[in-house]
Amino acid sequence: MHPLRHVRTIARLALCAGLCAGLGAGCAQIAVLTPARLADTSLARAAATTGWSEATELPRRSEVLAGQLVIRADFPLAEQHRLVRELEALRVDVSQRLDLPVSDEPVHLYLFEDHERYDAFAGRYFPGFPVRRAFFIETDTRLAVFAPWQDRIAEDLRHETTHGYVHAVVPGVPLWLDEGIAEYFELPRGEQGRHADHIAHLAGRLIEGTWRIDIERLESLESAGELSQDHYAESWLWVHWLLHTTPERKRILQDYLADLRRDVKTAPLSARLTHLQGGAVTCNAALRAHLESLSPR
Ligand SMILES: [Zn+2]
Repeated sequence: MHPLRHVRTIARLALCAGLCAGLGAGCAQIAVLTPARLADTSLARAAATTGWSEATELPRRSEVLAGQLVIRADFPLAEQHRLVRELEALRVDVSQRLDLPVSDEPVHLYLFEDHERYDAFAGRYFPGFPVRRAFFIETDTRLAVFAPWQDRIAEDLRHETTHGYVHAVVPGVPLWLDEGIAEYFELPRGEQGRHADHIAHLAGRLIEGTWRIDIERLESLESAGELSQDHYAESWLWVHWLLHTTPERKRILQDYLADLRRDVKTAPLSARLTHLQGGAVTCNAALRAHLESLSPR
């Protein structure tokens, strides 16, 4: 067992209660628990001492190496499986879009054949952890993703594997931005990060008058358990706005990530935007206009 100085766990649940209502029993169970995605770092810390990495319950029937990924599954998994190739290509997409180097640090993916096996493993090694579709953990010794094979496995693995690729080179990425980036890259490649669920969610909140753009509030979030659907959606929107509006904004995000690699205490994104893109009022108006430009008429 390795001593652990740092453990971070990020779990994801269903997108929202509205979506869950239309899905099957497994998802309804999640919807009853909470409409948001949850994680709890203290649980991860406790779990990390139980030696999950040597657990005999981990998937081991097949192993596929794909670039940085070490994928172990309960079932035969072809090296040329479309999803494997897609996750491998994601490494280049993340690196190019965010102007980050690629790392050789392995990202371990554990794919369980069904919810029963996955839930039993998670229940034993991550006890008390809420029901979730998949999760990512970072320890001093390992980047790892756990997921059961299910209908939305591609989206879940794109999301969690993005966490792995980013954490391999920017371990100090702030929580909100970590999620915004993962939400951006969880979409199929051809969609260019355009997250229809988040667009609909935020557009609805704007009409209701129940949501206010506030990047500093996002920056103040410290535990993934604090993140609501609003936070995930707004985080995604900031990332999409930065990457898809002007070259200057894209550069601001890329420079921020580069600076974070050197010093986690570097000036936050909100301060950079104020300095380089006008004050909060100007940025918030531009973000809102961007959301409206993405919303279907
Ligand atoms: Zn996540």
